[in-house]
Amino acid sequence: MKRRNAADWSSEDSAELYGIRQWGDDNFDLSSDGKVVVKIKFPSGEVVVPLTEIVAGVGARGHNFPLLLRIENLLDTRLELLNTSFAAAIVANDYQGRYQGVFPVKVNQQAQVIEEISRFGAAYDTGLEAGSKAELLLALANLKDGGLLICNGYKDREFIDLGLWANKLGYRCFFVVESPSELQLILQRSAQLGIEPRLGMRIKVSAKVGGLWTETSGDRSSFGLSTAQLVDVVDQLREFGKLDCLQLLHCHLGSQIPDLEEIRAGVREASRFYADLAAEGVPLRYLDLGGGLAVDYIGNRSKHSYSCNYTLPDYCHCLVETVAQTLAPQQINQPILITESGRATVAHTTLLLFNILDVLEFRPLSLPQHCPTDAPELVMRQFQLHRQNVAKDLLETYRQALDNRDRIREQFRNGQLSLRQRSLAESLFLSIARQVSDKLEESNQDPEQLAALRQNLADIYYGNFSIFQSLPDSWAIGQLFPVMPIDRLHEAPSRDAIISDLTCDCDGKLDRFVLAGTEQSTLPLHPLREGEDYVLGVFLMGAYQETLGDLHNLFGDTHVVSVRINQNGSFDVNKELAGDSVAEVLSMVEYQPKELLEKFRITAEQAVRDKRISVAERQQILAEFSAQLQGYTYYKH
Ligand SMILES: *Cc1c(COP(=O)(O)O)cnc(C)c1O
Repeated sequence: MKRRNAADWSSEDSAELYGIRQWGDDNFDLSSDGKVVVKIKFPSGEVVVPLTEIVAGVGARGHNFPLLLRIENLLDTRLELLNTSFAAAIVANDYQGRYQGVFPVKVNQQAQVIEEISRFGAAYDTGLEAGSKAELLLALANLKDGGLLICNGYKDREFIDLGLWANKLGYRCFFVVESPSELQLILQRSAQLGIEPRLGMRIKVSAKVGGLWTETSGDRSSFGLSTAQLVDVVDQLREFGKLDCLQLLHCHLGSQIPDLEEIRAGVREASRFYADLAAEGVPLRYLDLGGGLAVDYIGNRSKHSYSCNYTLPDYCHCLVETVAQTLAPQQINQPILITESGRATVAHTTLLLFNILDVLEFRPLSLPQHCPTDAPELVMRQFQLHRQNVAKDLLETYRQALDNRDRIREQFRNGQLSLRQRSLAESLFLSIARQVSDKLEESNQDPEQLAALRQNLADIYYGNFSIFQSLPDSWAIGQLFPVMPIDRLHEAPSRDAIISDLTCDCDGKLDRFVLAGTEQSTLPLHPLREGEDYVLGVFLMGAYQETLGDLHNLFGDTHVVSVRINQNGSFDVNKELAGDSVAEVLSMVEYQPKELLEKFRITAEQAVRDKRISVAERQQILAEFSAQLQGYTYYKH
């Protein structure tokens, strides 16, 4: 990797540093003039649009930072890839069933997303998976009749009734039975309404699978039937003469499973269940293998929790081949394969863009040529270290400087050293640490020490956003997302930084990054330029982030803009949702904005009476208060 003080730094170097071609998966790239571009394939060829252009267009429509940007084309691209990759695997394996995708609504419930999946997915018969009453209602409203609906999770009478009516309307609405007691209610309601149910069973697999939330699949999972319960459900259905309703077998191994061999083991086990049930006469037709298809957030194609050691075609091939092979000995008819790939469908389509409001630099202030003659012994020693232009034994020098620094601080606490002397000493320490870090980088000899030093010396870039609102998984489960500037990438990013958000919370920061396929504790960034926005993008964040966010410090929803890129490189802004205003956020915690204004008015009126402000000033103050109530919860720069 090229040194970041190299004079001939180019976009190519940035592409390597930030790994955009790896995690970007052919959706994002860099232009030679240093901009992040979105790449969209059209039948007539590839169109490339810089994000800066989209940001400018959206800004001109009044949406400032932070901004959640949805690129509709990328959602279509993923849906298409998922379906064409399965189609290819089916041909390659001479598989007799077809593939049918289902989008699990919980992964992104936003209307814009569900509408687009229903619209574009119609060509592939893409269905929806619902886990609650609200999700079922929105799924029914968006899917055309005839569409496939999978209902997982707890179901009450109302839920069941609606699902049964949906069947009557022509939907293929499956109730996936998760517990034996549920079955009784479904059969009861079905008899009362006179509508045959479509049934599935959710199994628990014992194959050990890594990845996130894999406890959703094993013995102790709160979802799914144990093997004994499964057999019991089959027997009950047989007894009631309803076995023909049981057409689907469902299993969900977990989310973001990085290792393909573990997926294969889980699929093999699920297929064994399928084979034996089919062999004993259960008229199964669908095998639903749930979610788990991972997104390579790191871009190093490994077994790291936020990567995966396979491509999408590998995954499809593995599923189709494993099902075919496992069923072969018993000559079972090959089922229609369903997956509920949520993350891999929507992650790429959304990115968060925010500007940097300020930077706290860890740079020494200007240092004198000579050490003041009255400086205490330790400060003099520190000065010598700083002046000797740190030479050979870099780490030894650093240790000495660190030791001096700590002793100087101690002397200050004991009153043996003045504030100004301490101030000089702190700057000297920073200067020494910088020199050591620069030399370590040049010598390329101790990358671990260098990373540790960089972390201690990292600048703090203050980003105009809230982690808790916009990137909840980054905070809650330490998820990694690719983060990088969207412009100036043909310039060397000479600073090392961590990013702090706007909340007054020490967890409100990004300090783990993905660089060239490895995890790092600092992010290389450019120094800010006067009068110019410096904009960072957080990529691949379309899955799971949007409805988990909270109102920490009362930062509300960001603006959301959905764009579609056209064949000629122009783009349409299809949907715009203004973020929360301060008044809206305050109402969510039970304040009445009007009442707040009234209370403040009384305070201002009293000030006029007491002659602390004039009537004109009162007007100005109240106008300001009122305008800010209506404004965005984030900051203007
Ligand atoms: C969450 C969930 C999914 C989605 O999983 P991804 O890994 O995001 O594809 C699919 N099916 C069920 C039952 C789920 O609970």
